[in-house]
Amino acid sequence: MREPMAARMRPFTSTIFAEMSALALRTGAINLGQGFPDTDGPPSLLADVAANVTGGVNQYPPGPGIPELRTAVAEHQRRFYGQEVDPERVLITTGATEAIASAILALCEPGDEVVTFQPYYDSYAATIALAGATLRAVPLRPGPSGSPTFAFDPDELCAAFSARTRVVLVNTPHNPTGTVLDREQLTLIGQLAVESDAVIVADEVYEHMLYDGREHVPMATLPGLADRTLTISSAGKTFSVTGWKVGWVHGPAELLASVRAAKQFLTYVSGAPFQPAIANALALPDSFYDDLASGLQGKRDLLSAGLRAAGLTVYPSSGTYFVVTDVAPLGVADGVEFCWRLPDLVGVAAVPVSVFCADPDLGRTLVRFAFCKRDEVLAEAVARLANLRKALAA
Ligand code: PMP
Ligand code: GLN
Repeated sequence: MREPMAARMRPFTSTIFAEMSALALRTGAINLGQGFPDTDGPPSLLADVAANVTGGVNQYPPGPGIPELRTAVAEHQRRFYGQEVDPERVLITTGATEAIASAILALCEPGDEVVTFQPYYDSYAATIALAGATLRAVPLRPGPSGSPTFAFDPDELCAAFSARTRVVLVNTPHNPTGTVLDREQLTLIGQLAVESDAVIVADEVYEHMLYDGREHVPMATLPGLADRTLTISSAGKTFSVTGWKVGWVHGPAELLASVRAAKQFLTYVSGAPFQPAIANALALPDSFYDDLASGLQGKRDLLSAGLRAAGLTVYPSSGTYFVVTDVAPLGVADGVEFCWRLPDLVGVAAVPVSVFCADPDLGRTLVRFAFCKRDEVLAEAVARLANLRKALAA
């Protein structure tokens, strides 16, 4: 019999999130691996969806998404970033994941190159492979001591671009490192995209999760970039409903038409009862958005302090749900093996960063922890992690 799976899919048979969540469930560990909150989103949003389901909003919505939600996304961009977006140029997708996949599938010819940073969100590599495109992953590395923030080397970034570059896929705030790329870094990425005539796909799903007063700068708002940028976000993150899988993408007409062409044959549409409810939620007052960020900032501080006290090196997180640590100071040489043992050692689950790298040596001893959990859950995780040194020595 022939190989049951196409060669390009073989490296992607399972995801670390599924593996670590299953391990956490099996062992009863606190799951700080997969990034999902353990509380529900705003009550008004939940009530709206319930009313829509019982009120008959259950059939196929229009292909591009319902007009109310597309308008609400456009208004959100104006309200937070002063960006003018035509609702006609907004496409509602099945999570940000489908928006990313549709963009890559629609834009790339086999052999085209996609520049992104590593570590990267795991769907990037799989989607690029599905499209038959080639991944060019530029390392984000922690800076020299005194500047422990992850950053790229501008020379390495320049070297990754070529005439074959079709897309640069930029994620800020960045999963898994918690890095927020600054205006200067984004400007360089933009310049290189212009020079190579590449499309920028900006994955901004963590746009409302920035800490310590940092501000999100959407790529599309930088001078000269709007006409080559597709911007992606998702209700899953902003409203703590990761299981709903409603996302969106907007950008210039021709690029968006390409994305729509691919999207309509992936899922066609989804999320009928969610869409009107999310439209309402996007208009929630500033206090909702402020509380989301300040709540998560406190959780980041709680978990980061606990991880530091447990003996791990903690790289400060400026955004997202995540904090990256180095477990080398504990005498551990391999993060993957460590994450498989961690639930048994102390009853906590995490994910190894090397699985998000094209070059696994880059993140060999790095481990990601999610802090989007209730404070009491984080406090219990911290108490358990306090036993880590002893457990490793036993
Ligand atoms: N991009 C990044 C960087 C993410 O962390 C996630 C969340 N899992 C996604 C995209 C996918 O978002 P969604 O669940 O809306 O598909
Ligand atoms: N985005 C979340 C994370 O990085 C979950 C992703 C997933 O389960 N596919 O943990």
